[in-house]
Amino acid sequence: MPAAFLGHGNPMNALERNRYTESWRAFGDAVPTPTAILVISAHWYTNATAVTAMPLPRTIHDFYGFPQELFDIEYPAPGSPDIAEMVADVVKPTWVGMDLDSWGIDHGTWSVLRHAFPDASIPVIQLSLNAFKDFDHHLELGRKLAPLRDQGVLIIGSGNIVHNLRAIDFSRPDAGFDWAQRFDDAAGEILRSSPTDVVRLDGHSDFAKAVPTPDHYLPMLYIAGLADATPLDVLVDGYAAGSLSMTSYTLGLGTGLAVPDAATGAAELPDGFPTLNSNL
Ligand code: ZN
Repeated sequence: MPAAFLGHGNPMNALERNRYTESWRAFGDAVPTPTAILVISAHWYTNATAVTAMPLPRTIHDFYGFPQELFDIEYPAPGSPDIAEMVADVVKPTWVGMDLDSWGIDHGTWSVLRHAFPDASIPVIQLSLNAFKDFDHHLELGRKLAPLRDQGVLIIGSGNIVHNLRAIDFSRPDAGFDWAQRFDDAAGEILRSSPTDVVRLDGHSDFAKAVPTPDHYLPMLYIAGLADATPLDVLVDGYAAGSLSMTSYTLGLGTGLAVPDAATGAAELPDGFPTLNSNL
């Protein structure tokens, strides 16, 4: 089973059709039908490693200041207690909590799955990001998930390699600041050649600006660990609002799906500064 890191960007992408959402759709169409989808989302950044293990996860609207239409979205995919157990098993001795009632499917997950798997018929589970662990730990956890691919589980990391909400500039909807481009390019060079080396990118001179908090960066480390020595392929690249990189990568699909550059295409951003609940 292939895998992917998807740059989800603005929650409004859930409602839009643009080159990013089209690339997610193309990815969903290209993979064999998964037995389940395991998502490592930037938006479940918490104090433990946990997996959603309820049979019917709720759709979580973890943001405010957005149009009602976004709050009305439901992604009614079933969960899978069995796959949750399997996840806990493959990452041993790391302890994984079975979450039965606290989380569900957050917008880092449903904003991309709504495009990639619009039917919401495939079981979805989420693995949390343990905020107390270092980059090496997250990379290693990603590596340990590899056997799940043989069981037909589609693993998706959902975040953004460059994600600085304080630096957002809505006057440049489809552009990236120089520092954002430098960092995204540096990450891409590594991910397209020797993915696990990306764990050392915290020494990059633009790291502090590109990754002011680790939540949106960490999902990429899981896919890098999962890839191990196999180079990732770019699915789509680009920038949003100056300080977000939208670059997405696939594993095990080749470059055939790559979306060509386009002059425009990012989601239309709402007025003002919508606020994301970051769980921080
Ligand atoms: Zn996000």
